[in-house]
Amino acid sequence: MTRINEHYRKLGAGYLFPEIARRVGEFGAANPDATIIRLGIGDITLPLAPAIVEALRTAADEMGRETGVHGYGPENGYDFLIEAICEHDYEARGVGIAANEVFVSDGSKQDSGNIQEIFGAECRIAVTDPCYPVYVDTNVMAGRTQNARPDGTYEGILYLPATEANDFAPPPPEQPADLVYLCSPNNPTGSAASRANLTAWVSWARQHGSVLIFDAAYDAFIQDDDLPHSIYEIDGARECAIEMRSYSKRAGFTGLRCAYTVVPRQLEGTTSEGDRVCLADLWSRRQATKFNSVPYLVQRAAAAVYSPDGRKQTAEQVAHYMRNAALLREGLQAAGFVVFGGEHAPYVWMRTPGGMSSWDCFGELLSKAHVVGTPGSGFGASGEGYIRISAFNSRENVEEAVARIRRVFSG
Ligand SMILES: *Cc1c(COP(=O)(O)O)cnc(C)c1O
Repeated sequence: MTRINEHYRKLGAGYLFPEIARRVGEFGAANPDATIIRLGIGDITLPLAPAIVEALRTAADEMGRETGVHGYGPENGYDFLIEAICEHDYEARGVGIAANEVFVSDGSKQDSGNIQEIFGAECRIAVTDPCYPVYVDTNVMAGRTQNARPDGTYEGILYLPATEANDFAPPPPEQPADLVYLCSPNNPTGSAASRANLTAWVSWARQHGSVLIFDAAYDAFIQDDDLPHSIYEIDGARECAIEMRSYSKRAGFTGLRCAYTVVPRQLEGTTSEGDRVCLADLWSRRQATKFNSVPYLVQRAAAAVYSPDGRKQTAEQVAHYMRNAALLREGLQAAGFVVFGGEHAPYVWMRTPGGMSSWDCFGELLSKAHVVGTPGSGFGASGEGYIRISAFNSRENVEEAVARIRRVFSG
């Protein structure tokens, strides 16, 4: 029989979200009258902004005309989108990113999972713990780890605990690491890294010749203009960092699929012989071979995010989710919970009461308030003792969830 990639067998039993769905389904079946409010999964709930729908319609009409049809697009994205990215996401914040450093893709999940392919099998990986599960699982699949330990961590990965003591923004470690995944604003903790924290990371990475993979999927949710939106706002980051951004959360593209990765031309890796190699060239080669560009329609829709109407409308959507986050923060605090995050990210990170486990607290919230959160332990061992509550929902559902939680848990 054909041999499988046995590294896959090291992966934890199931992905977190199917397990949550199973438990919620079981509860729903046993309690058919309960109206369950889902604040678990991180998916958008508002419809697409009108400017984006308009761009899709216009592009669809264009594709239906002989003179307007578009086949395979340029591998790294159409110029109209890349130019808008360079201007609005970077120049506007004083950062110079060139068009040939931007690689448009169909998602940051893919990009953050695929990027490890251009690095050596022996590279030592570091992640902040808890983190977006894709960073760890894709390195497990690639064979960079041993088997999982009982607490779900892997031998071979350096875990950097994100705790209340370090404001959920771990400082660089003493040990070396080749590739470090950072995410700010953070999923799941909802915290945003300070300029000082990112400066420390950039200087550490340059000193050790390490590469930072900076996932900025939630940058549009930052409320304080002094906080960095991009790692490239930090001097020296062009020599040590790759950045990823997505339209999924900022503009409701989870179902449309568009994102991009920036790999600066200065960023280099090394061969075993010590030859220096441009990482942007490797990533470009990888994408050209394994990826065939984002649909024209979708790239037109992404470009519409930067039009005056698109910016205004998507900013209103972000404001809606952030108002939800504020209501969750205040409501949970009033119910006696200790909460973090929710100020620059659509997630509130809640400490479980009385040292309860994440899954027990998940069960309590579900059975008593009929509210679904995400157990923090599902994002890493250091997430144990926390629950992630998502602000992606209607105002009505968030208000109702807060009212129920207060009724059930206060006092
Ligand atoms: C949602 C999310 C993304 C976005 O993924 P897409 O594939 O672009 O939808 C990336 N990183 C993190 C941490 C996320 O939570």
